[in-house]
Amino acid sequence: MDTSSKTAALLQKLLQFKTVNPPGDTAAIARFLKQQFEPLGAKIDLVQAPRADGPVHFVARLRGDGSKKPVLLAAHSDVVPVEPDRWSVDPFAGVIRDGYVLGRGAMDFKGGLAVFARAVMMLAENKVPLARDVILLSEGDEESGPHGARWLADQRWDLIEAEFALNEGGWIFRDGRGTARQVNITVRDKNTIVLRLTARGAPTHSAWPGLAPHTAIGRLIIALARLVAREPQPMMTELTQGYFAALSRTTEPPLAGWFHTLATSPDAAAREAAGRRIVEEGAYPMLWHALMRNTLAITMLNGGIKENVIPGSAEAKLNIRLLPGQGLDEAMAYVREVIADDGIRIDAPAFASLDEARADLHVRTNRPASSTETALYRSLKAHAERIWPEAEVTPALFEAGTDATAWRLRGVPVYGVYPYPLDNETMVRMHGNDERIEIAALDQGTDWVYSVLVDVAGRS
Ligand SMILES: [Zn+2]
Repeated sequence: MDTSSKTAALLQKLLQFKTVNPPGDTAAIARFLKQQFEPLGAKIDLVQAPRADGPVHFVARLRGDGSKKPVLLAAHSDVVPVEPDRWSVDPFAGVIRDGYVLGRGAMDFKGGLAVFARAVMMLAENKVPLARDVILLSEGDEESGPHGARWLADQRWDLIEAEFALNEGGWIFRDGRGTARQVNITVRDKNTIVLRLTARGAPTHSAWPGLAPHTAIGRLIIALARLVAREPQPMMTELTQGYFAALSRTTEPPLAGWFHTLATSPDAAAREAAGRRIVEEGAYPMLWHALMRNTLAITMLNGGIKENVIPGSAEAKLNIRLLPGQGLDEAMAYVREVIADDGIRIDAPAFASLDEARADLHVRTNRPASSTETALYRSLKAHAERIWPEAEVTPALFEAGTDATAWRLRGVPVYGVYPYPLDNETMVRMHGNDERIEIAALDQGTDWVYSVLVDVAGRS
């Protein structure tokens, strides 16, 4: 089906490249983008990771007069895998249905890539004179690969260095009537740490399990059951307090009152009760649940070699997302206390040692939020208020990790947006089935980002 939206049409094409990670091969999509941007006079660089089927990062640069430092728009083009049987359409066909574009990556983040790319193309098409370079980066390996943004920043900072940047991040919420009521511009991310629990026991014949729970798998299950049964407490930071206070102004009672309690009450029990009601009754329960606390998800289990062998070890991976200011010691202490089994080993498999993990997390979690005093933030806010007049624009925390960390670690302010209004039904399909984005929302986002670029990069 055809669409008159140029952003939706571009997104349809982007969805047809199978950039599933792993392996995250983005060579073909990078070549496609090159064909789109070269005729517009952009300078193109392709940066190949040292891995045969690995990512190729695409960089297009529209030249300004150099009187100001560049602005960067960064979007990843790799996507997570699909369960094809559970989709109602081909996830790699770019199908349009009922005003939505469907496909893996439609909202995370090929939709954003399409919006950013169209906004940059429009600058060239409309011959807007530029005071600063405008850099569009389409990265690979965002969905957890070794050659993503941090690698690229180490290798080719010369291609990316900018005064400030746009990235995936904040949500534009709609209320029940479909009106955009809150525009979140994320100025920092939660930090991820993966901890691995390893339980050991005597390997033997499965006919001799002995007294419970002396097998490795038994001990691990008990530890994990304790983690599942416990809910981490809500905890406010300066940023999330402001965010939930804004929600108390842009939602209706009784939700508004619970947000007010969560944001302002000194009483931990009252905050917990309010937090629970918000998750039970609110429009974006998963998101709000995640933003008010550290979260912990058991994501991988590994144990056993044969059905009649009691294995000597069993392990689980815990994917932990920490609020700003929280480090490895807080995460370890929580897990240790809840599992209450000193015989279970805890390590951080992505790092050579716990000390290394602690140091890395320390740097990430203590970096200040990106300033809301920059020309880019101010313009994002002003144009969001024009396009979505009933929305409050709020700086926010992002509940997951993004490539923004790579730029923020180098001192570049980064603003995160999913540049399209959406509802919870659309949001929860991210990394799920029948992922989709509304065409009208794509067009609003393109208007937003283009207007902002004219503002901050155009020669006045
Ligand atoms: Zn993403």
